[in-house]
Amino acid sequence: MKSDFFKRHRFKKIGPLDPNRIIYVFRKINSFLNTHRIKKGFLVYFLFIVVIPFVFCVGFVHQNTHAVLNTHHIVLEVNSEFDPLTYIKEDYDVSKLRTIDSSELDISKTGSYSVYYKKPILEYVLYVDVVDTTAPTITDFGSLTYYVDEEVDYSQQFRVEDNSNQTPTMIVDDSAVDYSTVGTYSINIEVKDHANNSTTYTKEVKIVDYTGVVYLTFDDGPSDNTKEIVDILDDYNINGTFFVICNKSSKRKYIQLAYNHGNAIGLHTGNHKYSQLYASTSAYFDDLNRVSEMVETLIGKKITNIRFPGGSSNTVSNQYCQGIMNELIPTVKELGYTYYDWNVDSGDAKSNTDAYDIYLNSVNTGYKNVMILLHDASAKTETVKALPMIIENFQKRGYVFRTIEDGDFVCQHIS
Ligand SMILES: [Zn+2]
Repeated sequence: MKSDFFKRHRFKKIGPLDPNRIIYVFRKINSFLNTHRIKKGFLVYFLFIVVIPFVFCVGFVHQNTHAVLNTHHIVLEVNSEFDPLTYIKEDYDVSKLRTIDSSELDISKTGSYSVYYKKPILEYVLYVDVVDTTAPTITDFGSLTYYVDEEVDYSQQFRVEDNSNQTPTMIVDDSAVDYSTVGTYSINIEVKDHANNSTTYTKEVKIVDYTGVVYLTFDDGPSDNTKEIVDILDDYNINGTFFVICNKSSKRKYIQLAYNHGNAIGLHTGNHKYSQLYASTSAYFDDLNRVSEMVETLIGKKITNIRFPGGSSNTVSNQYCQGIMNELIPTVKELGYTYYDWNVDSGDAKSNTDAYDIYLNSVNTGYKNVMILLHDASAKTETVKALPMIIENFQKRGYVFRTIEDGDFVCQHIS
């Protein structure tokens, strides 16, 4: 009879402990005992009430004494390293794990996540809290000295870094600085990340007086040299003014380039032919309108700053229309234009002036406001060579550089 029971109730390998299966087993045992009124029932009960639970308990204790994890809850800093093997007990054989599933975890975002260590039957969970408690750091690039009324941009003066936030907010409190008065001041900087961790920093700022202002003006561009000139100005973190003409359309993109890099654009002439543009007042304005429209199309802005070909004091125009400048000067003013001449001539208009002479001609001045005539034409490579020397000379002497738009010096030969 006993063997019948085991034959009829031969169990498949017990997989997961299915409650239905357990109930089924107990019912079968019960009915078996009732049906057969076994005298040794006590032993059977003993087997099922004591022995089997005992075996289960031993198994459970065994499982847990060989538990996978040595902790169930960890706290990690955002964007730190996460290695799931670190949290497995040292004496646990990792090869017995079916899989480790950390797909829910996003270490780059704060939050609570679960990582699953799966055995064939049991599953262990590691709860991971990703937090951000690290404040951004500020690195200082050195002393801050600015000229009176110089445009100040602190964003480039400090390196701000954070473990989670690529661009932490930087708030500069410069309310104690009087930019128009020479002196030594302090600014307070606060940087904050997404999690509101913040760092504060105090930095000294010196405001010093400058010797004067240089306006570098480039006529006759755009040309093959425009980009190089813009690059040089960028290298020194300064800007100049380009009085442009309507030359080859393939080069017009350089007007946009110069403008987009913070340089001022002025109107010079359409065709730069004295015989045509100074033939009459209306011929002059036809020519001016042509360059005006071209620039407006390119940069989306109407320009009213101009430079007469030859300057306002030119006499060459008299060859084509006697006394035309006496008409043009008041007329352009009435129409709302401002014309600019120069008080320093670099001499680069002459074909044989070399870079060193251009440099000497440009820097040999003691004016407070220096407006230098230079040329941006493809042949004027010596001008490009001279430019860094000119800039460095004036910078060493304490000059600052402005464009006609951000400075207030209007240089006119005839007013
Ligand atoms: Zn010119």
